[in-house]
Amino acid sequence: MMMKEIVKKAVETHNLTKDEIIELLSNDNEKDELFDAADKLRRLYKGEGVHLRGLIEFSNYCRQNCMYCGIRRDNKELQRYRLEPERIIELATSAVLTGYKTIVLQSGEDPWYTTDKMCHIIKEVKKTDAAITISIGECNLEDYRAFKNAGADRFLLKVETSDRELYKNLHPGMDYDNRIECIRNLKRAGFETGTGCLIGLPGQTLESLAKDILFFKELDADMIGVGPFIPHRDTPLSGSMGGTLTLAVKVMAIVRLLLPDINIPATTSMETVNPMGRIMALCAGANAIMPNVGDYEYKRLYSIYPGKSHINDDIDKTRERIIRMIESIGRFVSEDYGYRK
Ligand code: SAH
Repeated sequence: MMMKEIVKKAVETHNLTKDEIIELLSNDNEKDELFDAADKLRRLYKGEGVHLRGLIEFSNYCRQNCMYCGIRRDNKELQRYRLEPERIIELATSAVLTGYKTIVLQSGEDPWYTTDKMCHIIKEVKKTDAAITISIGECNLEDYRAFKNAGADRFLLKVETSDRELYKNLHPGMDYDNRIECIRNLKRAGFETGTGCLIGLPGQTLESLAKDILFFKELDADMIGVGPFIPHRDTPLSGSMGGTLTLAVKVMAIVRLLLPDINIPATTSMETVNPMGRIMALCAGANAIMPNVGDYEYKRLYSIYPGKSHINDDIDKTRERIIRMIESIGRFVSEDYGYRK
């Protein structure tokens, strides 16, 4: 089938075979057709509103050792920090006062935050009436249920890659089956479940990206975050190439075709590889942005990858800049919570 026909089939049926996805991913000449189709579906299912989710990166301690990640356990160059629960609650509260409807709490896998501590933070932040997204890695089902009961609404845990062999090579000491089980447990616990993958990992093929997309479809994920892998100096993958914006946006656009009603962020990593990255994503299927609402010092130290732009901007300046970006393409900041349904 030709590009045009594959895109048409996806728009009509929200289904594609692995080979059709690979065909879309390898065709670089007609990618605008794919982007336009994703943009139309986004408009039809999600409208013109862009959801802002205020991100608080509250600890860069991590017990895991992911080969690509700058906050991996073995990175001894990094100064570590963790925020007191009361500081997290303060930051969340000011973000809500600034207008954020969702607060995202993200960290490395840091056991200092026991289940009880996390539940306390969630309960307090919930008093602001914001929707809460948690992104703290792998936990057991009981813990996920406890976070849900405390008031968390969504959970973000990327599969990173659904290629078993590649997963194994990039995540020493971690287990692919457990990752998948954790993601399924998030659904069992009743979360709106977000997952996603990295683009351009060393050894990753278009076929393995096609499998990622089919996994998201099979899971019926509620949100999907896709971003280019950006090599970090203080990791074993410092010498790698990294992913391109174009491939990341293509994967994202295909996800929009197959899961038309989900939430898809224009990610910070897309903006990091190209200043126009977020705008491109917003025009090819994305409908959300996660601006950082934390302190300057911690934005710098939460260095999962290098080169994050605008980290000097405070919470007000960040919000203004993002609103300007959204309005420059004829969209607006959504006033609602931005649940999937
Ligand atoms: N500990 C949490 C949060 C991880 S950090 C968890 O396991 O879910 C959030 C995301 O940063 C990861 O899911 C990964 O996709 C992304 N990330 C890590 N290192 C990266 C890099 N070098 N380039 C781009 N994205 C990266």
